[in-house]
Amino acid sequence: MTTDGVEPSAQYDVVVVGTGHGGAHAAASLRQHGFTGSVALVGDEPDLPYERPPLSKDYLSGDTAIERLLIHPASFWHDRGIDVLTGRRVVAVDADAHQVRCADEAVISYRHLVWAGGGVPRTLTCPGHDLGGVHTVRTTADVDRIRAELSSTSRVVVIGGGYIGLETAAVLGQAGKHITVLEAQDRVLARVAGAPLASFYQDEHQTRGVDIRLGVTVERIEGRDSRVSGVSLSDGELLPCDLVIVGIGITPAVEPLLSAGAAGAGGVEIDEQCRTTLPDVFAIGDCAVHRNRYADGEMIRLESVQNAHDQATIVAKVLSGEDAEYDAVPWFWSKQYDLRLQTVGLSSGHDETVVRGDPATRRFSVIYLRHGRVIALDCVNSVKDFVQGKRLVAEGSTVDATLLADPTTPLNKL
Ligand code: FAD
Repeated sequence: MTTDGVEPSAQYDVVVVGTGHGGAHAAASLRQHGFTGSVALVGDEPDLPYERPPLSKDYLSGDTAIERLLIHPASFWHDRGIDVLTGRRVVAVDADAHQVRCADEAVISYRHLVWAGGGVPRTLTCPGHDLGGVHTVRTTADVDRIRAELSSTSRVVVIGGGYIGLETAAVLGQAGKHITVLEAQDRVLARVAGAPLASFYQDEHQTRGVDIRLGVTVERIEGRDSRVSGVSLSDGELLPCDLVIVGIGITPAVEPLLSAGAAGAGGVEIDEQCRTTLPDVFAIGDCAVHRNRYADGEMIRLESVQNAHDQATIVAKVLSGEDAEYDAVPWFWSKQYDLRLQTVGLSSGHDETVVRGDPATRRFSVIYLRHGRVIALDCVNSVKDFVQGKRLVAEGSTVDATLLADPTTPLNKL
């Protein structure tokens, strides 16, 4: 019996593994596209499918309750005849037999398998990494644990200056905690954004009292009575704290697929229809390595709701007998304080950046070009630039940098 009371059948036409954004949307979209076969959505978390982005935003701050995070209510799944099997971990895939085996030894047969396992947060490996009070932010359970400790916390060290680290820093800082962010690179958001955006966000955090340390390495997590008491840096400095948040990326959750023989390294490889190299097995979302024309045709993995959602739609269409190939423009958002960032395209490999508008107004965009073509935009509180810039990215438009920099010329006129 599963937590939502559904008893698994032995066999389904489609088994979707992973109840995150990709898995939930794949199952729901199968019905939208007229698929009438049996569908099971199997996941190891106890909750019904829920939205992950609020975990480092409104759910962490306590402004949103779990019920508001649900992608659909229980009745949605029931009404569409989709069996949601929560609290059930798939540990092995037998691609020849078309079966998955769960941790409780239950075996479920499939005609088609859709793997949407997402990723597990990378953890530290230094001494003290497993002390009480050291947390990652990936699931509601992670955030519930953090929230339970907040009343006895005054100092927080956030390890990792990416989006999740900075969003967490913003929320906990606003909750009155003293925050230190540690980043190994020489700027925050180093992996995902250009220097002008990184320096803008760094200033925003520092203005609010967040202590940002760049180019630093964690030596060990110090503890007292099995609980964190501080973080020691490799230069010998000790930062006392009551709570540590580790936001240093994820490892794709694909082990059962790779053990079954699927091709992939750092994720599972898929083609433009999201098929893995295993027969009748698809993969989507954070765990899937795919060729992306917005990354200059490189094989990449994207970690975004857009990617999980759009790949789920492709699989649902293909399984419903439609023609479809993944070619979506990547986009992403982040919320820190009152700043809404929307990004479109992929900025890696840019050779020129244009700042459009004045960052001091807290409403501006950074536009990235490669060989004169617009490849990405990061838009801060500038919805119009985001919406209009999407087309420039999709078409790979060549636009004069002076015109791009002029905020009085709408991007859709260029
Ligand atoms: P997930 O949503 O991770 O779902 C995978 C599911 O599969 C999980 O429930 C996992 O437990 C389960 N699973 C894994 N292995 C197994 C197995 N063997 N058996 C059974 N179940 C399994 N993206 C944005 O675009 N904007 C944002 O603002 C944003 N903010 C974020 C904030 C946080 C804190 C986090 C963690 C992510 C954020 N993201 C954001 C990223 C976004 O949430 C992910 O890209 C998206 O959830 C990916 O969907 P997915 O279905 O691939 O994986």
